[in-house]
Amino acid sequence: MTRAVLTLNAGSSSLKVSLFPENGETPLATGLADRIGPEGVLKLKDASGTPIETTGDLTNHAGAMAAVIDGFRAHFSDLDLVAIGHRVVHGGADRDAPATVTDDLLADLERLSPFAPLHQPHNLAGIRAAMAAFPGVPQVTCFDTAFHRNQPFVNDTFALPREMYAEGVRRYGFHGLSYDYIAGELARTAPQLAEGRVVVAHLGNGASMCGITNGRSISSTMGFSALDGLPMGTRCGQVDPGVLLYLMDQKGMTATEISDLLYKKSGLLGLSGLSNDMRTLEAAGTPEAMQAIDYFVFRCQRELGAMAAALSGIDAVVFCGGIGENSRLIRARICERLDWMGIEIDHARNAANERVISSDIARTTVMVIPTNEELVIARAARAAVGLQEAAE
Ligand code: ADP
Repeated sequence: MTRAVLTLNAGSSSLKVSLFPENGETPLATGLADRIGPEGVLKLKDASGTPIETTGDLTNHAGAMAAVIDGFRAHFSDLDLVAIGHRVVHGGADRDAPATVTDDLLADLERLSPFAPLHQPHNLAGIRAAMAAFPGVPQVTCFDTAFHRNQPFVNDTFALPREMYAEGVRRYGFHGLSYDYIAGELARTAPQLAEGRVVVAHLGNGASMCGITNGRSISSTMGFSALDGLPMGTRCGQVDPGVLLYLMDQKGMTATEISDLLYKKSGLLGLSGLSNDMRTLEAAGTPEAMQAIDYFVFRCQRELGAMAAALSGIDAVVFCGGIGENSRLIRARICERLDWMGIEIDHARNAANERVISSDIARTTVMVIPTNEELVIARAARAAVGLQEAAE
């Protein structure tokens, strides 16, 4: 019998899955259904990297889920799922921890869809599909907002009339599963630093920073939505709201058109006119690609300074996400003008992607820690059904 925990991360056109052993931290199998729709593709592989064959209807999420399940069932003939964990973008103003799915919870999360219309409905569709496929298996939701929910009021609010705060117009912050993982890794491997003032830079296709002390989120660059803060692959990051008024008022753009512009056509892609992918921009060397990188680096430096102010100082910076974990160039560029913050990297360590990349004499420790959002979901699902922490 293979007793296992399944984690699901359902996006607008993708479904990311991992199958964890009941009490282990290394997945038995992982998979990604991408471009769900007429051109959907699904890739599953086991722990050794061997592809797991499966076929199915990839035109919608339910079909993709069925194909994943068929593949896993065929590969692990005695599969017994003990819990399923889901990534859900929005948990609302009060949820600061994972929650087990009930009808009431689903209805509540549905009411939050207007706050995250591009993501929440897909997350909930993933839960419904899993409930239909595995009736009776406990389903657990892990929220990207939960880690940030106990921030001080000044970091939780906008300077808008108070009734807006009451109706939920707040700074929620996202990427919470990633920050939760990094905070846990720091506590495990560098407990003294974990008690200090740490800025985590999650730099991937989506990018944000979080100021953490004692495992608690104090400030986040993302706000009401996942658009705020740092520029991203295709998202704008911080932008003057006056720009949006101009687009509506003078150019007659609709909410849908503006949403498309801010979420899909801005950021590195918009500035470079070339690509949302940092590797492509690093290789391109065109003036526009270099300006896009300059802007990304500069905004990271600015937000690092803001985070240090929010934390009253800084003891460590942790890079994670696809860019943070892999781009020695971007890490070096971000750190290069921050010696006034005690940041000084050792270029050999940085080039070797070592865990600690700061120099021995630097006042601020700079680290690279690969994040693992799936493991945070698996741990939460496991805990929800009363299983012990993994023995590994
Ligand atoms: P997501 O937010 O979608 O999970 P990732 O965390 O996988 O995205 O990050 C994707 C980004 O990481 C892309 O911009 C990609 O170019 C960048 N990246 C991955 N590897 C490298 C590398 N070796 N050098 C520079 N950028 C990299």
